[in-house]
Amino acid sequence: MTYDHILVRFGELALKGKNRTQFEQRLQTNIRFALKDHPSCRVKRTYGRIIVQLNGADATKVSEKLQKVFGISSFSLAMVAPNQMEAIKDAALEAFLQHEGEKRTFKVSSRRSYKAFPMRSAELNPEIGAHILRNTEGVTVDVHHPDVEVNVEVREQGTYITCGRIKGRGGLPVGTAGKVALMLSGGIDSPVAGYLAMKRGAELEAVHFHSPPYTNERARKKVEDLTHILTAFGGPITLHIVPFTNLQTTIHQHVPSNYAMTIMRRMMLRITERIAHQRGMKAIVNGESLGQVASQTLESMYTINEVTNMPILRPLVSLDKQEVIDISQEIGTYETSILPYEDCCTIFLPPNSVTKPRREKANQAEQSFSFEPLIEETLQGIETVEIGKEDERHTEMDDLL
Ligand code: ATP
Ligand code: MG
Repeated sequence: MTYDHILVRFGELALKGKNRTQFEQRLQTNIRFALKDHPSCRVKRTYGRIIVQLNGADATKVSEKLQKVFGISSFSLAMVAPNQMEAIKDAALEAFLQHEGEKRTFKVSSRRSYKAFPMRSAELNPEIGAHILRNTEGVTVDVHHPDVEVNVEVREQGTYITCGRIKGRGGLPVGTAGKVALMLSGGIDSPVAGYLAMKRGAELEAVHFHSPPYTNERARKKVEDLTHILTAFGGPITLHIVPFTNLQTTIHQHVPSNYAMTIMRRMMLRITERIAHQRGMKAIVNGESLGQVASQTLESMYTINEVTNMPILRPLVSLDKQEVIDISQEIGTYETSILPYEDCCTIFLPPNSVTKPRREKANQAEQSFSFEPLIEETLQGIETVEIGKEDERHTEMDDLL
């Protein structure tokens, strides 16, 4: 007998009724996507738990994947026994013996969610404990601070035995909070902002503005790569590539240079909002943090924000730069973000941008040219690619144990 299952627990899903089922189904789907490279794994739902049957898949590699999935509070390697006392005792002993790490003391904690099983938890604990004591040497019971807690869960389909817990990533299953439009540059900040939005259950569609030939193919590839890295946390992501060259050069020609950046941001926001409307998204996420650069002063946000009344989520607003860098390193976007290919903002950035742009002046600057047809044309030119979809494997819709 070996550890051939993983028992997945989800903490924050203390929800009831319809919501709960929806959350659990979504988590199941997301776990399946995360394990797509391990096709032998089966991912099943049973009341209040998700069970991964490894069927020979490498437990360490599967664990690494599970640690990226939002909505998991913890998980454990598990052995499964039929609901029969002798089999349970043997499996518990085997699970204890094969558990790695310090194990001079232990305790047994049983739970019987399958009420038809004839023994109660209080009867199971001593019986299983005695069996482990009889078959080991130098091992004692410690109910207060045991090295190993042997958890025994008697469920309808079988009894799951685990010894130890791996901490999950927490958060909520991606997709349970609806969809948001992530404004994704090639920088360090916006991928982290997207990651943090996903942490609370938001599913992303990314919007990237590029300005060929001023920005090159590698800059675009970089954004696709960043998007791909983010898919590990919540499944495939739709990426919209917006051709921004005409709008940018027009702004450059017609708008006073100290307001060019403000107007460019307002155009980006208008376009992102329209994409969001078209695709049923209810909010925009960006990587702004308060007071970092000229476009991120409160005055600047106030003036740029005038063009939309859609909520703008700024998950980085209270983080220091180093904290953002730490997260980007942990999630694996940092190395890609620091590649030197410039994005459209840096190339057209005039040196004399106002740090406190005013709404009246921005509106005045936009009167200099009839931008609306150009915005329309830009929207028509958007190229949409699905990132991560190609490696999604066929998943059963609602697979209960
Ligand atoms: P980042 O590290 O995400 O590039 P930044 O520190 O460079 O951010 P800004 O250049 O002021 O800051 O950009 C602020 C935010 O505007 C970005 O985090 C991103 O959400 C959005 N943004 C900037 N450039 C683009 C772009 N080319 N396409 C899509 N969104 C963009
Ligand atoms: Mg940037």
